[in-house]
Amino acid sequence: EADESAPVRHERVQTTDGKEIEVAANVGNAAEAEAAADRGADGVGLYRTEFLFLDRDSPPDEDEQYEAYVVACEAFSGGSAADGGAGDRVVVRTLDVGGDKDVPYMDLDPVENGFLGERGIRLSLGAHADLFETQLRALLRAAGRVAADPESADLAVMFPLVRSVEELDAALERVESVAADLDDEGVDYARPELGAMVETPAAALTADRLADRVDFLSVGTNDLAQYVMAASRDVDAMDDLRDPLYPAVLRALARTVEGAHAGDAWVGVCGEMAGDPQLTELLVGLGVDELSMGAVTVPDVKARVADLESAAAAETAERALAAETRREVRETLGLPEE
Ligand code: PEP
Ligand code: MG
Repeated sequence: EADESAPVRHERVQTTDGKEIEVAANVGNAAEAEAAADRGADGVGLYRTEFLFLDRDSPPDEDEQYEAYVVACEAFSGGSAADGGAGDRVVVRTLDVGGDKDVPYMDLDPVENGFLGERGIRLSLGAHADLFETQLRALLRAAGRVAADPESADLAVMFPLVRSVEELDAALERVESVAADLDDEGVDYARPELGAMVETPAAALTADRLADRVDFLSVGTNDLAQYVMAASRDVDAMDDLRDPLYPAVLRALARTVEGAHAGDAWVGVCGEMAGDPQLTELLVGLGVDELSMGAVTVPDVKARVADLESAAAAETAERALAAETRREVRETLGLPEE
């Protein structure tokens, strides 16, 4: 266990043979981004913006969001890659509600907007297009502000629960239209790096097509395991089925990584499994470029990466992929029986 009080020096980590793995943090607000920077995170791989929208009577306006996004980027001092810095990045996920996340003023319905209903990007493209537009304006303006600051991390944007190329294209069109509006108004902004989350079997199976359209993919293994295994996140009796170590989920993950790289996109994992140092070798071996997790596990995962050799990790991943059962996968990874 690392000492919790001492800030960890922000140092990028590589495998023993020199493959750099970005180890980033999942955060829910700007203060958590600051805490993550103190723990040595290379940036933020998942900023869950829904927390900005919860516990209030109306949504945050454009300026309030702009401030929150800028402050999160300013928590990291690596500068942007374009300025010769380490290239820290804060990946902001657009509003991801529905499923088990409710927001009173959005009039969500537990079934219509449940795990198999309208949630994630689909709400932003349909019933709540107004909220999406305000958020995109705040994000593009914030991206412009931090891109002009050589000290601050860059801002990237990703869309949650993408199910199809059609949805992704529609989201990208909204970005274009917001950029055109800001141009017309003479407001400063920048085009952020853009990404799609892979959290559904549909997205995993078409990862190459999605990757052709964006800069990166980020795998939400919590939802991906739920949907691949048809095991709801809100049913306790299904907890053990929602394990990313089931061969079907591992295949979906492997296919996503291949698809991402075939489409010249980098790929991250931001589900819970990314923060388990016992699974770091598997994920690095599958070819994942970035891992994002609760800030507390950042030092442990960094230490694990520094111990790995790419070829050995790839072999481990191959053996895990060849296993027929979760039990065999666990055996391959040297994990105790469940
Ligand atoms: C996931 O589904 O793995 C994920 C990171 O998103 P959330 O847990 O917020 O649904
Ligand atoms: Mg999710």
